[in-house]
Amino acid sequence: MSKVAHYLQEHLLGEVIVSTSTRRFFATDTSVLTLTPAMVVYPRNEADVRKTARFAWQLAERGRIIPITARGAGTDQSGGALGAGIILAFPAHMNRLLELEDKTGVVTVEAGANYGKVQQALKTHGRFLPPFPASFEYSTLGGAVANNASGEKTCKYGSTRDFTRGLRVVLANGEVIVTHRLNKKDFNRKLGLTSFEGEIYRAVDTLLEEQADVIKNMDPDVTKNSAGYCLTQIRGRDGSFDLTPLFVGSQGTLGIVTEVTFDTEQSNANPALFIAKFDNLEQAQQAILELRNMPDIPSAIEMVDDQLLNLVDKLNPNQIKDTVPKPFPKAMLFVEFDNPERALKKVLKKAHKILERYSVLLELIEDVSEQERFWAVRHSSALVVAHAEGNIKAVPIIEDGVVPPERFGEFLDGVYQIFARNHLQAAVWGHAGDANLHIQPFVDLSQVGDRQIVFRVMQEYYDLVLSLGGSITGEHNDGRLRAPYLQKMYGDDVYNVFQKIKRIFDPYNILNPGVKLDVPLESVKQMLRSNYTIEHLADHLPHS
Ligand SMILES: Cc1cc2nc3c(=O)[nH]c(=O)nc-3n(C[C@H](O)[C@H](O)[C@H](O)COP(=O)(O)OP(=O)(O)OC[C@H]3O[C@@H](n4cnc5c(N)ncnc54)[C@H](O)[C@@H]3O)c2cc1C
Repeated sequence: MSKVAHYLQEHLLGEVIVSTSTRRFFATDTSVLTLTPAMVVYPRNEADVRKTARFAWQLAERGRIIPITARGAGTDQSGGALGAGIILAFPAHMNRLLELEDKTGVVTVEAGANYGKVQQALKTHGRFLPPFPASFEYSTLGGAVANNASGEKTCKYGSTRDFTRGLRVVLANGEVIVTHRLNKKDFNRKLGLTSFEGEIYRAVDTLLEEQADVIKNMDPDVTKNSAGYCLTQIRGRDGSFDLTPLFVGSQGTLGIVTEVTFDTEQSNANPALFIAKFDNLEQAQQAILELRNMPDIPSAIEMVDDQLLNLVDKLNPNQIKDTVPKPFPKAMLFVEFDNPERALKKVLKKAHKILERYSVLLELIEDVSEQERFWAVRHSSALVVAHAEGNIKAVPIIEDGVVPPERFGEFLDGVYQIFARNHLQAAVWGHAGDANLHIQPFVDLSQVGDRQIVFRVMQEYYDLVLSLGGSITGEHNDGRLRAPYLQKMYGDDVYNVFQKIKRIFDPYNILNPGVKLDVPLESVKQMLRSNYTIEHLADHLPHS
């Protein structure tokens, strides 16, 4: 055992593990990349996290850098949950629901709390956390915050950032800060602190002031965005200040989240679902734009394409044979409304008018158990993701671009052209209402030719997304995989502000280095796995 591991073991309540099998387990997340950590720490409490950070900081002051990567369930598809130094694995012990306010539905959890379990607890109170990712049964709330995750309800409700009310964060030097929106008076008090926290508030405030012109137009014109750092929501017009939106989506590169307080929404147990089929993508786009313009926006506008339906039909015909008869439509939309009963009828009438104008087949499904049968078609993407023909697997390399909704048709056309040019089979599904598509082409990463295709396709895809004014990632974040494309997305000036932000919070580059910023494409190429599998997804508890 190294001296560092030994020291930590002596000073922490949680386990410190250096065994080869544990390090091998944590050497992958669900991205196509791999990086083996030096050790894995399972913190028992916040003090363990603080001590680990403090120790790494003291070593860094003496010139030795040991990176720290916070980790939830490791379902990250961007390589963000990988690190060469210490992995701080939260789900083992720091996984409790701490408080649920009955009246307001405000909920506070530890970072390693399982999303699905907390969602289940909220359900018993008639509430839910809307931006849940498709992986919510496995993943943690700390991971959702760090990625600014979102999902099928984001179209109406927004992303994780919109629901994160406050955080407890361990800073790079081991200090703990509590974030929430501060009024002017409380903010001034923070500016006067002599601690690292005070330094951070002063430096961020000055940077935002100096770079106001660069920052003000930095956000792409998209419905959701997890790329880069969120700099536009820190300062309020009323003089208030909040570091929470900056930490959300920062992938553990600015601080380590130990607790999160979320706002939640009231849930409606009786939503209504339209299934609309289209032979023409332009018509589908038109329908989506009109639905988005409704005063009561749908709670979901999801999509699968004919390629996905064909694949599912090939892999498991029973899964869709009763719900989607052949021939398959070019695109199938799932449009859900979750308004309260009295408003619902009126809204459905309006939506019906829009959809019947553009779709070739339209059905309204009001029975909830019947709706589940249709949602299973949308969620059959999981079958494609899990499928393997020998070494050929559907890999997440271009799985999360988002463009302005009015460019959705061009986005899809461009994606199909990339597949054709590179002779790739791929399936397309996702959040059509947000113009955020999930696409996973089938390749064999053990073949040199396919490994070259990966990076060619990524280049073509991210060029396409950016040429349409989009973002390289709507919800899965930059991580290591997409980090090389971040500078092109935002331009040099904004990128330079990102680098300054990172230096303010993490001057020694201890916190998840190699994620988001300063990542040459060559270093990513070297981390590409030769065999892609996500079999360990369900197995996220401690391994020793
Ligand atoms: C099949 C599949 C479907 C998916 N669908 C979606 C989807 O619909 N929407 C979506 O947004 N994502 C999706 N994802 C990606 C991912 O599952 C989510 O973003 C999820 O929220 C990550 O949670 P996690 O607990 O697995 O985090 P991890 O993968 O462990 O970590 C994610 C990032 O957060 C950082 N992190 C974790 N915990 C902390 C902490 N306590 N403090 C600071 N940083 C921390 C990590 O360093 C890493 O950078 C999907 C992934 C898969 C495999």
